[in-house]
Amino acid sequence: MRKKIVAGNWKMNNTFEEGVKLTNEIIELSKNKTDKNVGIILCPPFFFLQKCVELIKNNSQISVGAQNCHSEIKGAFTGEVSATMLKSVGVKYVIIGHSERRSYFKEDNIFLSKKVKQVLATGLFPIYCCGETLPERESGKLFDIIKTQIEGGLFDLSKEDFLKTIIAYEPVWAIGTGVTATSEQAQEMHEFIRKLIIQKYGSDVAGETTILYGGSCNSKNAKELFANKDVDGGLIGGASLKSQDFIDIVNSF
Ligand code: PEP
Repeated sequence: MRKKIVAGNWKMNNTFEEGVKLTNEIIELSKNKTDKNVGIILCPPFFFLQKCVELIKNNSQISVGAQNCHSEIKGAFTGEVSATMLKSVGVKYVIIGHSERRSYFKEDNIFLSKKVKQVLATGLFPIYCCGETLPERESGKLFDIIKTQIEGGLFDLSKEDFLKTIIAYEPVWAIGTGVTATSEQAQEMHEFIRKLIIQKYGSDVAGETTILYGGSCNSKNAKELFANKDVDGGLIGGASLKSQDFIDIVNSF
C-alpha cells in the first residue's frame, strides 16, 4: 500500500548504548509531535535489531528494518543472516540492493532478485534500492540503468508480491556526499519508475507503490523533495543518526 515513509539507515554506526539512546530519543520525539500517517522505519545494524524491536514495542508508528539479508534461508554462509532469522526477532522490513552492497560487495541484480523473493517468502517487506552513478548520469545512461535495476530485481514478482515492495531511488552521487538531487531530478526519476511499474503491473499497482528518495536528504531539503507528487518519503543515512534531525525530516510532509 502506498504510504508516506521515512526510513533511517544507520549503516555501520552506533554502539549498543548509542543505539538505545538514539532509539529512545526518536520514540520520545515522535510522540504527539508527528503525523501518525507517516511510517517510521529504523534500520540499525544486525546486532541491534532485537533490542530495537524491544524498545519500539507497542509503538504503532515505528517499525524495524534490517540493512541486508542473505538469499538463502540457512546453511554454510559464514557471517550472513537470513530473512527467517530477522523475522524471528520481530524485524519487518529489509533494505535490499543498497548501492554500498552493490559496489563494495558486488551484489548484482540476479542475486538481489533472489534476496527480494526470499524476504517476501518469509513474510517481510523489501525496500529495494536503485540508483545511478555520476558518470552514468552524465553520459545520459541514467534511465537505462534504473530500468535494468528495477526490471532485474523486481519485475518477475507477482502483482501481489510487488505490492508489498517499497522502492528507494538513491542516486549514488548523492549518497553521503552532501549533494542532493534537485527536486526536479528526484521527481523526474520517480515518475520514470512509476511509469515502468504502470507498463508492467498497471496503473492501480503503480499508484499503490511507495517510492522513497535517498541521498543527502536532510531536515533542510526534505520538504521540497517530499512535495513532489511521486516522492513518498525518504531513506535517510547520515541525518538519521541525530534524533531531532530525523524527526524534523519525518515532519517534512
Ligand atoms: C543511504 O545510504 O541510504 C543514504 C541515503 O545516505 P545519506 O542520507 O547519508 O546520503
